[in-house]
Amino acid sequence: MTVLALVELDGAEPADASLRALTLARGLGDPSVAAVVFADSANVPTSALAGYGVTDAYVIEPGSLHGYAPQAWARALAGLATETGTTAVLAAGTDRGHEVLAHLGAITGLPMAANCTHVTPDGGQTHRLVRHRWAGLLLEDAVLEAPLALVTVATDSVAAVPTETPADIQLHVHKPELAEADLVVRAVESLAGAGGASLATARVVVGGGRGVGGPDGFAPLEELAGLLGGVVGVSRVVTSEGWRPHKQQVGQTGTKITPELYLACGISGAIQHIAGCAGAKHIIAINTDPGAPILAHADYAVIGDLHQVVPALAAALREGNKEG
Ligand SMILES: Cc1cc2nc3c(=O)[nH]c(=O)nc-3n(C[C@H](O)[C@H](O)[C@H](O)COP(=O)(O)OP(=O)(O)OC[C@H]3O[C@@H](n4cnc5c(N)ncnc54)[C@H](O)[C@@H]3O)c2cc1C
Repeated sequence: MTVLALVELDGAEPADASLRALTLARGLGDPSVAAVVFADSANVPTSALAGYGVTDAYVIEPGSLHGYAPQAWARALAGLATETGTTAVLAAGTDRGHEVLAHLGAITGLPMAANCTHVTPDGGQTHRLVRHRWAGLLLEDAVLEAPLALVTVATDSVAAVPTETPADIQLHVHKPELAEADLVVRAVESLAGAGGASLATARVVVGGGRGVGGPDGFAPLEELAGLLGGVVGVSRVVTSEGWRPHKQQVGQTGTKITPELYLACGISGAIQHIAGCAGAKHIIAINTDPGAPILAHADYAVIGDLHQVVPALAAALREGNKEG
């Protein structure tokens, strides 16, 4: 049986969140997991996908689908699901993964289960699931009954694990049948400075909280994020104050992040914030308060004023880059 997995790209590589989704898909796709990639066929990272057990990569080239068009992507997945006779469609629990699978649920009239950590086929049209509720504060056991299981994967709870032996992978160019209405919503360009890695998939996130002091205080954090090849994330205080847009919020009511490094600057570490960053591999806190709750979650901490520490870090990195 084939299982289809939507794979998002981060530059030329599969996004880390998608590799996590592929790892979970392998557990239920025996013997085959097929990836669906929206890109030029020359840009499909086939060897990286093969390393995660993908045997078939269906590429949907830009053409009329130029940009990100959630309903059209879902329509393409629906067509492929029928063609391949798949039993499940998975995506990473990112903004795009959730949005596309929600559209797929609407198109097919089937239920969709979000933020799953375990999915086990249980015979017939049944899958047993464990999934996050309340931003992962609660785990729910659930049964999904549907001819096609639609599942997003809780990216902060499933590790990306390559296979021991890469699969033999075949590339197929798929041309979806789309209606005009499928293309009504399309994101064809990003604002300057909004490109690069998304918060959900970034390998480095530099977080800023109330301690940053105001909207103007974020320039050094932006610079540091740029030097580390990462992006800026923020606490809810920051978005509530209107210092930064909500799409940058990390937490229970924001984005869940799974970077290699989360540098939390001037963030106290409220439980609702931790719900969004607990999946980070390493946390470094910069805080003036040695009793701040974030310290209980941090691997390292700098007790100090971020307005001094962050520029000093950036200067050291700039210097290191010059020497390197
Ligand atoms: C239903 C609900 C959902 C929520 N969802 C979210 C969510 O998704 N994400 C989220 O973040 N919050 C969320 N919150 C809010 C959360 O409870 C906290 O209020 C919020 O996270 C606090 O933000 P903060 O850490 O920036 O601010 P504060 O708690 O005020 O902490 C500021 C920190 O900065 C430090 N500091 C101050 N000045 C400096 C300096 N110069 N240098 C270094 N450190 C300094 C202080 O010591 C302090 O630790 C939610 C709350 C509720 C009720």
